[in-house]
Amino acid sequence: MIAIGANGFDCPSLRSLLPKRPPTAVTCTFCQGTALVGIPDQWFVCPLCDGLGWRIPGVAY
Ligand SMILES: [Zn+2]
Repeated sequence: MIAIGANGFDCPSLRSLLPKRPPTAVTCTFCQGTALVGIPDQWFVCPLCDGLGWRIPGVAY
């Protein structure tokens, strides 16, 4: 399992690598759009939205 620190994930250069959120996307309900789940000091990329913070309605992961 790969853990990404919250600080590292907020790096602008990493953010720019993420796909652009399409207008049909909805905020991920599992991570509330934060793209990270877990407990303090032990955060993981949300497995539901794959670290995007949003999902396409009707698309199963
Ligand atoms: Zn999520």
